[in-house]
Amino acid sequence: MVLFDSHIHTLPFSPDGHQTIEEVLESAKGSEYGYIITEHMDYGLEGPMKFEFDPNEYFTKYGPYRNDRFLLGVEMGLMENETARITKTVNENPFDMVIGSIHVVEGYDIAMPEYSEIFNKREAYSKYFDCMYANIRKYSDFDTLAHIEYVCRYAKYDDPEIYVSEYKEALTSIFNFLIENDKCLELNTRRLDKEKGFNTLREIARLYAHCGGRYVTTGSDAHYAKNIAINFDSVKKIIKEFDLIPVYYKNRKRME
Ligand SMILES: [Zn+2]
Ligand SMILES: [Zn+2]
Repeated sequence: MVLFDSHIHTLPFSPDGHQTIEEVLESAKGSEYGYIITEHMDYGLEGPMKFEFDPNEYFTKYGPYRNDRFLLGVEMGLMENETARITKTVNENPFDMVIGSIHVVEGYDIAMPEYSEIFNKREAYSKYFDCMYANIRKYSDFDTLAHIEYVCRYAKYDDPEIYVSEYKEALTSIFNFLIENDKCLELNTRRLDKEKGFNTLREIARLYAHCGGRYVTTGSDAHYAKNIAINFDSVKKIIKEFDLIPVYYKNRKRME
């Protein structure tokens, strides 16, 4: 099957994107991978940038480019208080794929340095996983759980890596929920170029497989065209090691 990069952002729908749809289409031409655009929809996220877009505009503008290897999804920021708006948007729009993300914990945008300043690492990471577990139980109409190691990405601790043994109980609860509800785990490739990042995701994938998880999606979270499908050779190693099945979604249906 064709492996998909199912986590890509573009301008103007994701305000932190740095690539236009034309650049992404150009990249797709010569690529061995399928692409899924997944723009940010973070209802309730406070800050200078608004991570929300108009789905009608999105489908009007990008709909003509849709084909079997170029699909249109959304990255939905999961927040318990926003369930009504999230439900409405997902139900009323023809997204191919919905990826569910935790970007905000106890009102803090965890991409901001404050989160590492206010909480020590143990607190910050425990809160993040607790928040994730609460949110996926509250709203579970997503297809894959995005970038589970996201809390490491912007953390300011000397060693920001997640050590699975320290959060095993929380991660096991999350994985059991995903498996019981037929959801996937995204293997986010963004940090796989560094040995530590690779080892972190590898150990997370090991636990997921140990819990009985099989299905994974692969996503670069590219905001620049040069980062599309970045480190996919590394993620293939993880998939192979734990005998995982890479999938993507089209019309909200899992495709192998
Ligand atoms: Zn995200
Ligand atoms: Zn993203």
